[in-house]
Amino acid sequence: MGLLSTGHPLSWKASQPYIREVKRKGIRQFIHVYRATRNREDDCLRWGDEVEYTVLHVDKSRHKISLSLRAPEILEELQKQEHLQPEGSSVEVLWRPEYANWMVEGTPGVPYRCFAGDLELVEQNMMLRRLEIFSVLEKNEIVLSITAFPLLGVGNFTTPVQPVLGRASLSLYVPDAAINPHPRFPTLTRNIRHRRGKKVDIRRPVYYDEKTDKEFPVLPQCLAHQNGCNEGTNNHHSSTPIGDSEIEEEDMIDLEQLAKESTPDIYMDCMAFGMGCCCLQVTLQAKDMDESRYLYDQLAVFAPIMLAMTAATPVIKGYLLDTDSRWDIICGAVDDRTSEEMLNGPKKSRYDSIDLFVSSRKEMIPERYNDVEALLDEESYHTLLENGVDDRLAKHIAHLFIRDPLVIYEETVHAQDEHSTEHFENIQSTNWNTVRLKPPSLELNAGWRTEFRPMEVQFTDFENAAFAVFTVLVSRVIIAFDLNFYIPISLVDRNMKAAQCRDAVQQQKFYFRRNVFADNSHIPDRFKCACGRTHKPRFSSSVQECCLSVCSSCSDCEPMTIDQIINGKSIDELHSDHNFAFPGLISLIRGYLDALELPPESALKIGNYLDFISAKAKGELLTTASWIRKFVHNHEAYRHDSVITELICYDLLKAIHDITTGKRIEHELLGNFYQGKGECNEVSAEMLQEMRTKVEKGPTLLASKDIFQRLHNLASLSDDALVEMESRVSSNTN
Ligand code: ADP
Ligand code: MG
Ligand code: MG
Repeated sequence: MGLLSTGHPLSWKASQPYIREVKRKGIRQFIHVYRATRNREDDCLRWGDEVEYTVLHVDKSRHKISLSLRAPEILEELQKQEHLQPEGSSVEVLWRPEYANWMVEGTPGVPYRCFAGDLELVEQNMMLRRLEIFSVLEKNEIVLSITAFPLLGVGNFTTPVQPVLGRASLSLYVPDAAINPHPRFPTLTRNIRHRRGKKVDIRRPVYYDEKTDKEFPVLPQCLAHQNGCNEGTNNHHSSTPIGDSEIEEEDMIDLEQLAKESTPDIYMDCMAFGMGCCCLQVTLQAKDMDESRYLYDQLAVFAPIMLAMTAATPVIKGYLLDTDSRWDIICGAVDDRTSEEMLNGPKKSRYDSIDLFVSSRKEMIPERYNDVEALLDEESYHTLLENGVDDRLAKHIAHLFIRDPLVIYEETVHAQDEHSTEHFENIQSTNWNTVRLKPPSLELNAGWRTEFRPMEVQFTDFENAAFAVFTVLVSRVIIAFDLNFYIPISLVDRNMKAAQCRDAVQQQKFYFRRNVFADNSHIPDRFKCACGRTHKPRFSSSVQECCLSVCSSCSDCEPMTIDQIINGKSIDELHSDHNFAFPGLISLIRGYLDALELPPESALKIGNYLDFISAKAKGELLTTASWIRKFVHNHEAYRHDSVITELICYDLLKAIHDITTGKRIEHELLGNFYQGKGECNEVSAEMLQEMRTKVEKGPTLLASKDIFQRLHNLASLSDDALVEMESRVSSNTN
């Protein structure tokens, strides 16, 4: 959600005299933090996930589901407990605002710790979050964890209905009233547009079915019969930035001209199409700066794999897309580059995969791996070097600082405070990359952290927990076994493109390193764990086989399927140029976990997550995107024209709701892995309290029987349904 300073934001025009000043101060602030924390060491693993939720309004009688714009009110309710909390104590869930007024973001109240038992808390905490939201919803509202609302930007898709063509976005499709009212958000929207010199222009390929039109009108129906654009133009946002009042932007839109235009792609014209998508993120605290930087690089390579595995965006703006993920939609939604910069400036949007690896370890060979052009802000670069920041980190920061600060507040622009990090964060938090390196924060009592940002959010708490836990475990084996994932950045970029293709898990190959062990001739035989002891990993024979197949003259990376990367591959005798074996990340994780000798219950639960991830990678389970596609294709109202009607959308979201609550069983999506958990439409205060107490106690799991009994009472499920659910759970865990 980024930095939420308060104050009066400056318009893009009024910001101009201060841009350099903000960058200079931001660099000074970074240097201050860097000097104070570069030698900070021995932080232990702490970590947290972030899940973004979508609030929806259900009109049963009309079979219509729309986006509810009540998130700010809902958030106020959700944050009450946090605000009432005496200083020094904590809540179980932290609620934060997001870009759109249909979104809220939930994270664990305090970060998880390094204990394996904490991995078991994740799903429960996510369940608690869902229950907390349900407890403050109105009768006709539901909450889902979906990446994109299928009818985003189509007709009257919000409740309440609001006029389009607002002053912040000038969007033909999305009302400004959908933008979070905190001044940061409308100002970001407007200043991106002003910096760019025109509206953002997002084009994504439509999925061509038998009867799909070849061209789509640009002007939405609701405006097509209008001559002027009076509608919405009085929608002066309360937070119009300072210095902007003279601009009459409505004149920039010629509706008559637009009515004649059409496009072969799906056209989206504002920030909300991207920033209104929901994701799943994981932040990991490292031991020290070196480990955090190394993890940043490794996870950047891993990002496209997880983007493909979690792909969940095959529909947006009422059409089936020819791609499966949100990533390039958001890249386009906040792309503030001018036409000149598009030709001669940064090659990517400020939302995209990274351009530079940052570790100074010997495995990182800059000539080979940092192989794409990465512009630097020269002044920042020299200041950083002069102040003792090493070259690679200086380049990383100076590359972030090629972007301008988009929201400058009148109140703080002149502040000389080196102890604040506001100006640094201004640039850092608007470089939205697949990974983010976060320096320590005194305020948050946090050390060097790496944030993993590519994943799309999944329907159920089970899936989100599985992907979050898997990410943490991948980070653990990277550190424990000194794994080396380096491949050239240009290939990471290529993998990012592949990850977004339709059904990438089964159809695409991804460049990955043939040998991920630092020492080519040996697999690691011990590792030091956070508990201070040294453990011996127990690897299967397939892992042992891998090292034998490495030849020094071979290329260091190969295109592999996700199945091979996650589950491993053995030597392919038939193809001499592919005669190498790969251990598979899951085998490495299992070798690691085996060494820890977890209590049987923990091992079962985590093992279940790993089995689920393994099945996804094999293609035995559909990705969320493939499942949505299939649902649409099988819907009786689908006309094979790529169009998602209101009825299809209604039934799809209802089905997702039923999956989330355990009412609908989807083996193709979840196999036998998911522990359904019943309806949660009405949540009593007692139930929330009870759940909180249990979560507070730390890493002890609620007995699943308790949960089901309570959900049973709550949703008045039939006894049969309860028995069925319980037997499903015990068959999952037995
Ligand atoms: P963002 O930059 O996305 O707004 P925050 O800095 O608010 O994120 O951090 C959000 C995530 O970081 C949450 O998942 C939270 O649990 C986690 N987190 C908070 N403190 C730490 C810490 N010390 N170490 C690791 N993760 C942390
Ligand atoms: Mg967020
Ligand atoms: Mg985040």
